[in-house]
Amino acid sequence: MSSHVFGRSAAQLPTALRGDGCYLYDAEGREYLDACGGAAVSCLGHSDAHVKAAITRQLDALPYAHTGFFTSEAAEDLADLLIQHAPAGIDRVYQLSGGSEAVEAAIKLARQFHIENGEPQRHRLIARRQSYHGNTLGALAAGGNAWRREKYQPLLVETYHIDPCFEYRHRAEDESLEAYGHRAANALEAELLRLGPETVMAFIAEPVVGATAGAVTAAPGYFRRIREICDQYGVLLILDEVMCGMGRTGYMFASEAEGITPDIVTIAKGLGAGYASIGAMLCTGRIYDVIAQGSGSFQHGHTYHGHPLAAAAARAVLESMASQGLIAQVQARGDYLAAALQDRLGQHAHVGDLRGRGLFRGIELVADRASKRPFDPALKLHQRIKAQAMAEGLMVYPAGGTVDGREGDHVLIAPPFIISEAQIDTLVDRFATALDRAIDRVN
Ligand code: PLP
Repeated sequence: MSSHVFGRSAAQLPTALRGDGCYLYDAEGREYLDACGGAAVSCLGHSDAHVKAAITRQLDALPYAHTGFFTSEAAEDLADLLIQHAPAGIDRVYQLSGGSEAVEAAIKLARQFHIENGEPQRHRLIARRQSYHGNTLGALAAGGNAWRREKYQPLLVETYHIDPCFEYRHRAEDESLEAYGHRAANALEAELLRLGPETVMAFIAEPVVGATAGAVTAAPGYFRRIREICDQYGVLLILDEVMCGMGRTGYMFASEAEGITPDIVTIAKGLGAGYASIGAMLCTGRIYDVIAQGSGSFQHGHTYHGHPLAAAAARAVLESMASQGLIAQVQARGDYLAAALQDRLGQHAHVGDLRGRGLFRGIELVADRASKRPFDPALKLHQRIKAQAMAEGLMVYPAGGTVDGREGDHVLIAPPFIISEAQIDTLVDRFATALDRAIDRVN
């Protein structure tokens, strides 16, 4: 079939026709168990009646009103609900259309805050090598994938990258987890001192790294030390929870598990759960007040920010999560999934690491377990596993990221929060089959 869609052609991809619960169905009637929600998006599955009804009601009442002229009940209600769940101190919400937009807004807000706070020389951003923050130019500058940035380098914001907190590969054998976490966080202080801390506006990081690394959690204490360093040097801490937020890790905000409050936090994906294009940037009252009492407004905006239809969908997503007790369920089902993966793959010759939190799980593949040597990047094993899993009727997210300067292979598993234990058994079964078949072909 020829296709006018700019992207992969219809000849390469099945056509999705309908979704039901944790399953998607293509035009040929094939069924796929959605074990990744695309990229950790579909946290309620594909047929949540409450969200669908809320969208329809909002569509009938008011599809759109420009934020330069009106606020809307939907946007106000969503902001109130988000603030009820947000870490203490976070009390303003800026609604956007997706994750990259939220990250762009966060970067600009950090810059404007410092200008209006009397420190206009702060314009540099520090991020981590193992990270993905989006594909627009600001977000791309922040992201750690050098190959994604390469072509656009002359267009990018000035960003510096430090090593991530990646225990599997970077902790010394005789080092405790806590000592490693402290050492990894101190890389931020070293970079600040190298650059001149008074020139740096913000540090951005994913609390649990998603797309580039397959659910890498930080060592205990890492983010508490990062918070201390940011406070000491007057640098804003931006946590990017676009993928790991909104209940995915068993906490509404992933930063809760770290016991810290960021200055700015970005969310998207699970916020709209695939029912609407929505992201948001949340910030502390302190940042808001400096700007409100300074120039009076954040110099930013998009035609579709604060979209009532998207806001109504997101509000209903949060209501569905609450009425079905899904955050607690993520913790329980996450433990079940972790145990099932450990049981089935814990001793697998090519599984180097099983990691993650809640229903956000990563599997790192290695050619050799003892030395942790990755497969040859040219094999693109993670892409082969994705393709093989599709053939087995399973969607998993291939996460090819940098491993000590080389491409490593990871797979991300992030199923809907409504997944049952029996469906998790099917998931692990299909995944183990796909993994073995894909590895057999390259070995
Ligand atoms: N930030 C993180 C942590 C992400 O994982 C992503 C997308 O994968 C983004 C930002 C960009 O979000 P979007 O694709 O909605 O622009």
